[in-house]
Amino acid sequence: MKKIINDYKNIIKTLGFDPSKDQQISLHYQRQATNQMQISYITQKKIDQILEHTGVKISPTKKDHRQKYFTATKPAKFFDTLVHSSKSEQYLVEALRTKFVQQFQASVKLSVKLYEADTIPTFYNMQKDQLNDNGKMSFLSSRMSCMQGKPKAYFEVYAKTKGQRIAILEDTDGNMYGRALLWAEGLADGSVGGNHYLDRIYIADSLSGSDEVRAKYQHQMWNEVCTKLNKTIHCYSSAHFGSLIKQSGVGTQPPENFIPKLVEGATALDFEQYPYSDTFQGLDGQEWSMETDGEVYLCNTDGENANGENCSCDSCGDRMHEEDSAWSEADEETLCEECRVWCDDRDEYINQNNAIENTYSGEFHHENDLNR
Ligand SMILES: [Zn+2]
Repeated sequence: MKKIINDYKNIIKTLGFDPSKDQQISLHYQRQATNQMQISYITQKKIDQILEHTGVKISPTKKDHRQKYFTATKPAKFFDTLVHSSKSEQYLVEALRTKFVQQFQASVKLSVKLYEADTIPTFYNMQKDQLNDNGKMSFLSSRMSCMQGKPKAYFEVYAKTKGQRIAILEDTDGNMYGRALLWAEGLADGSVGGNHYLDRIYIADSLSGSDEVRAKYQHQMWNEVCTKLNKTIHCYSSAHFGSLIKQSGVGTQPPENFIPKLVEGATALDFEQYPYSDTFQGLDGQEWSMETDGEVYLCNTDGENANGENCSCDSCGDRMHEEDSAWSEADEETLCEECRVWCDDRDEYINQNNAIENTYSGEFHHENDLNR
């Protein structure tokens, strides 16, 4: 990294763009420890001021000095501290700045790791530019992906999907620069099948300065996932990085008859909230699909099931399909099959907690209707 900066300093000097006497030169620069995409530095003026006001003699090797007194900045801003130019030279300076940023970013080593289903809610919940409860930072923001930073409860449905994994593009400290869901097909015998599908690939804001750069990282992620699985798979984002693909027949949609399933014992309406889903927006019983008319339709960004109006029981709280519910005038409640009994007197269902059985006729009466 130092070499890149020193190379550019030489280019700048050769072109005559080196800083003027009154400009503060950035000193002791190095990659920021907590964010590899940023540069930590300080100026002589600041060193002098700190000594004058606090008596602290700045040492660039002291970790706490780095944290407390140094400036951490993005490569483009750092580049500007190295340059002094006139308006007419702006075009050339901008071209140099773009190249510098690209080379600096390319010097951060990123690779793909696959994580199991139970970690998926945590990755989605991570907040940008801060240390999260898994000890990692996210450079993906809600601006790049509407689901980033949302409550973990939204993503429980992914955690309960058989064989589901998440592909994370991360640096050597495990910080997140990209993510994509890796779907697996659940077979009838309960095992996870051979087919996989990589969903939409999201890339961090700081990396996706242009479509070209984004495509490069998307291709890297897809390619590394294929290598790990030892096969070529379809990917939602493959249209975006199509020109970089060497293999033929890489589709943007899941393979034919590809049906991911929830784990044993879980069904579509078990969840309190749901995410917006890019490819599989339908969930019915245990099966994911691209149909939108099932029990759950995952097209909302506020956690709601788009097909799920009036689908919880006012008595026990269980969720149900709307057509399995019944409204009781007498109790003013929406009731599930378990919680209601038929009341002939009133010609409607009533809450079974309020029902009294005539053990002779077997009929139920509402307790408020009986004179006891
Ligand atoms: Zn109920």
